[in-house]
Amino acid sequence: MDRQQEFVLRTIEERDIRFVRLWFTDVIGTLKSVAIAPAELEGAFGEGIGFDGSAIEGLSRVSESDMLLRPDPSTFQVLPWRTDAEHPGTARIFCDIHTPDGDPARSDPRNVLKRALDRAAAQGYTFYTHPEIEFYLFKGPLVRGAVPEPVDYVGYFDNFPGGTTHDFRRTAITVLESMGISVEFSHHEGGPGQNEIDLRYADALTTADNVMTFRTVLKEVAGEMGLYASFMPKPLEGQPGSGMHTHLSLFEGDSNAFYEAGAEFQLSRTARQFIAGILRHAAEITAVTNQFVNSYKRLWSGGEAPSYVSWGHNNRSALVRVPMYKPSKGQSVRVEYRALDVAANPYLAFAVLLAAGLKGVEEGYELPAGAEDDIWSLTDAERRAMGIRPLPSNLDHAIAIMEDSELVAETLGEGVFDYFLRNKRQEWSDYRSQVTPFELHRFLPML
Ligand code: GLN
Ligand code: MG
Ligand code: MG
Ligand code: MG
Repeated sequence: MDRQQEFVLRTIEERDIRFVRLWFTDVIGTLKSVAIAPAELEGAFGEGIGFDGSAIEGLSRVSESDMLLRPDPSTFQVLPWRTDAEHPGTARIFCDIHTPDGDPARSDPRNVLKRALDRAAAQGYTFYTHPEIEFYLFKGPLVRGAVPEPVDYVGYFDNFPGGTTHDFRRTAITVLESMGISVEFSHHEGGPGQNEIDLRYADALTTADNVMTFRTVLKEVAGEMGLYASFMPKPLEGQPGSGMHTHLSLFEGDSNAFYEAGAEFQLSRTARQFIAGILRHAAEITAVTNQFVNSYKRLWSGGEAPSYVSWGHNNRSALVRVPMYKPSKGQSVRVEYRALDVAANPYLAFAVLLAAGLKGVEEGYELPAGAEDDIWSLTDAERRAMGIRPLPSNLDHAIAIMEDSELVAETLGEGVFDYFLRNKRQEWSDYRSQVTPFELHRFLPML
């Protein structure tokens, strides 16, 4: 047993932990959990815990359904909302999924991201991400199918004395920090009941784990306050959607490979090529970064979500934004990807973003001219003249483009790629076969 594993076992004793939840994620990004008694953990560190992988979306074919969970001791945390004076302690630990032969399962999203990170590491790079997570807070309980009621009717950065969201954010952030997740900013967002909490940057595997934890923590805290926290990309018609803008950077050891003193926006050649890679492959990766039919309602109905492929300096209509450089922050140069939504599987989304950017670096892509105009206010002809292409307009379109993408197939690996496409085609077909209130309202009176 290594030192980290020993530390976990000792903490379990000291804190009287009675349940250890093994966490992992399916291909769509749903958090899965199985609780074991602490006595089982030592064995789990050794040979893993067996479970039936065929029961979990996209994990294994029925013929090879036995899979193993191998806990990653560096992710051990006590769950504060399950642990108090009256209740025995509960902890969680993220797991890697292995095949019965003991190899990492290629269909495990965490493994997809690890493979992408390994490829970057082979070129000397560590990939850092910093997600800005937006979400809505609604009055509970959830009524399936009904239009939800926001907890307030205030907007961007509003300070609303006596409002619920201050208390909610304070409690949620306290829980996150007690689990080792650092929060940088938090504020009310533009929509009624909409909020944002931004995590401090860290290596992409840590931030992906943190996004999964974040979603669970927020739903737990909301539930305790009689509220419902939603990560649906566009829950309310006519109101902004919820994005997960993510700031990306590559480091070589301690130095930021995106930083070059004195260059335009302090962007190094590597940074320019990385942005070029993301732009060139943006349409191919959109099915992964924006995976639900609802995601496209966010991308195509304003509310500051990007609809076109472009980059700019401090331009909030651009897909990729290079934030203002602050000398006091040293080498904090980074690029912000603004299409990603808050319902994506963070492991897969970070993997395809990294792969797209790295492709630009490997192939030495040329960065097209940036756009400092408000891209939404240009005409189609103006956008065409500037070479600005649209993102896919719906899930069907996004899947069709992803299907032909070598980059995405290679990054996700065959199993995840095929499963993802099958799952999404089914979602589109379920969606398309509906007759909606819109159609009845518009067409029945006239047809
Ligand atoms: N909610 C917007 C989006 O969907 C972003 C708004 C903002 O952070 N300025 O991307
Ligand atoms: Mg923000
Ligand atoms: Mg925001
Ligand atoms: Mg932002």
